Amino acid sequence: MKPKLTSARRKNRASLSSGSPAGGGWRAGAGNDVHRMVAGRKLILAGVHIPFPKGPAGHSDGDALAHAICDALLGAAALGDIGSHFPNSSPRWRNASSILFLRRVGEMVRGAGFQIVNVDSTIGLEQPKLARFVPRIRKQIAAALGLHRDQVSVKAKTGEGLDAVGLGEAIRADAVALLQVSAPQA
Ligand code: MG
Repeated sequence: MKPKLTSARRKNRASLSSGSPAGGGWRAGAGNDVHRMVAGRKLILAGVHIPFPKGPAGHSDGDALAHAICDALLGAAALGDIGSHFPNSSPRWRNASSILFLRRVGEMVRGAGFQIVNVDSTIGLEQPKLARFVPRIRKQIAAALGLHRDQVSVKAKTGEGLDAVGLGEAIRADAVALLQVSAPQA
């Protein structure tokens, strides 16, 4: 038996098929990333270099925060994920600056007819303390995405000595993004 459409679902379907925004024209997305912390790698968060003897292993610069934000934005726009656009099998992205990924993703999302409303994020890292770097990190993300700093939130917390983050073996980042439909979609 075919499920009965409520009037709200019917309206939603109609607006989807006509190419105009459904669901009030808002899209939310979530992203996360984790990298192993190893000796001799630079610790970079949203393009900001943080002096520390260890840094994330990775094909690019291992910028977990930038990667999580990219995935949140791509997810909100239903444009796939960071791996599908910047595959780590490609020599092109070897040691690439992830600020470049953020810029590109911002362009892709805008190109698909969305405006970025805000980005919120949390970094999980046992050491070093990140509080004094957070203003610069926010500024970098805002600049890469063409946003005001107030549209970008970055929080930092430790792993309380538990799990891979808490043991200092990993860096983790989580992000959410909200988009507003700015143009009818094809
Ligand atoms: Mg990554």
